[in-house]
Amino acid sequence: MTFAATVLTLYPEMFPGPLGVSLAGRAREEGKWSLATVQIRDFAIDKHRTVDDTPAGGGAGMVLRADVLAAAIDHARSLSPNAPVIAMTPRGKPLTQARVRELAAGPGVTALCGRFEGFDERIFAGRQVEEVSIGDIVLSGGEPAALMLLDACIRLLPGVMGAPSSGSEESFENGLLEYPHYTRPAAWEGRTIPEVLRSGDHAKIAAWRKQQAEIDTRLRRPDLWERHEGARVLSASGAR
Ligand code: SAM
Repeated sequence: MTFAATVLTLYPEMFPGPLGVSLAGRAREEGKWSLATVQIRDFAIDKHRTVDDTPAGGGAGMVLRADVLAAAIDHARSLSPNAPVIAMTPRGKPLTQARVRELAAGPGVTALCGRFEGFDERIFAGRQVEEVSIGDIVLSGGEPAALMLLDACIRLLPGVMGAPSSGSEESFENGLLEYPHYTRPAAWEGRTIPEVLRSGDHAKIAAWRKQQAEIDTRLRRPDLWERHEGARVLSASGAR
């Protein structure tokens, strides 16, 4: 099955962009995913091809019109009927690796990219659009966010990554950050690779990596650690 990526944007020339090279570029050439862009402006209803208007209630900037967006979304749904439509917005639910895994296992993603002040709010309920944020930052447009979302999905598609284990051990897959990595040279600028990693003892190495992942998660991401510990306590108590 080919994963169908559809992007609704005012700047289709930004795609495939970084998704045209490396893993994602090769996977597209191999037919593991497909890309279609939809120019939102093609669905404007006036002769000036207007896609935005001033905010109701006043204030700075412009807002993308619901009627224009709805027509563009309906067109995208006709191209990829079963793919969820995901609006990129800082007001959305933060994107997680778990959601990315779900999306990568599905038929594809239709990503709606905002510009200006964003979308007329009515589009979210009127067209069953999921709102997703890529982090607590504000970008000038949804395109880089859509590229991130698609990149995260594409690398998980069957056959895209080299070694299957490089996916399952990574940060967030088991609620923790990944352990630190090292490679040759064994000594560099007075710093050496931890002895255990050169021991050849796979059980010891696995135990060290688990411990490092836990320490780093606790120190760097106390929010993740708390959730991880909460889930562990719950499962140990047999609660659902
Ligand atoms: N006025 C909006 C707000 O304060 O929430 C910000 C609009 S932003 C300048 C323009 C567009 O960039 C948004 O409509 C959205 O598509 C995209 N964007 C910006 N930050 C984003 C984020 N953290 N996650 C996903 N999309 C984002």
